[in-house]
Amino acid sequence: MTAPLLQLAGVTAYYGSIAALKGVDLEVGAGEIVTLIGANGAGKSTLMMTIFGSPQARDGSITYDGQDITRVPTHEIARLKIAQSPEGRRIFPRMSVLENLKMGAAINGFAHFDEDLGRVFGIFPRLKERAQQRGGTLSGGEQQMLAIARALMSRPRLLMLDEPSLGLAPLVAKQIFSVVKELNERDGLTVFLVEQNAYHALKLAHRGYVMVNGRITLSGGGRELLEKPEVRAAYLEGG
Ligand code: ATP
Repeated sequence: MTAPLLQLAGVTAYYGSIAALKGVDLEVGAGEIVTLIGANGAGKSTLMMTIFGSPQARDGSITYDGQDITRVPTHEIARLKIAQSPEGRRIFPRMSVLENLKMGAAINGFAHFDEDLGRVFGIFPRLKERAQQRGGTLSGGEQQMLAIARALMSRPRLLMLDEPSLGLAPLVAKQIFSVVKELNERDGLTVFLVEQNAYHALKLAHRGYVMVNGRITLSGGGRELLEKPEVRAAYLEGG
């Protein structure tokens, strides 16, 4: 692995008195695609939200680019060039595609807006065709593209994606994964991907982690994890 861009050490997080993260160690190296897989309720989304400060980590530390961000408030995290596309996409449904993209660009004061817009429209031509359409009327796959495109408009160094393939037809999910791969290979974008679609996500990833009940139980190379009988049995076969 290259030098870690994001590093979690012994992170715990709680909802009330219930522990959702029970001491998580995880690293994402600069230029890597790292995937976190796990069953429903394992704590994957919580982990992503904890990096963004809500819920805040109770114990342990979160370091980004050498800076301790464990207690940095959520609204300041985006300024650190970390962007996320949350589960459920959460685009602005009443705003047009273009307005949604402007929201993404607002974080860096619309610097390079035209250039960045041209770039994301190059990646997602479908969004260019639908620039004036309301976000809420896009198909599921298009909304996912918009959520990723909006995140890219802030020129992130680290892109965090929470279940980008959720609810998408297999072919559309494949397109989303291939865009992620391209962004990583071509632009060196670092990606942290949370997925239930273990096969595609691990195939794509340089490294992966498996989470069970708030703890990391396995880690290794993406393809190495795909070969492991316990991963196959729990996340691939019949799934
Ligand atoms: P999924 O794949 O189903 O989205 P996940 O791995 O992302 O699951 P989380 O959403 O992080 O899992 O949930 C971890 C645990 O924390 C679950 O038991 C869940 O019920 C609980 N939890 C999540 N959000 C809250 C909340 N706001 N209040 C209380 N408990 C919560």
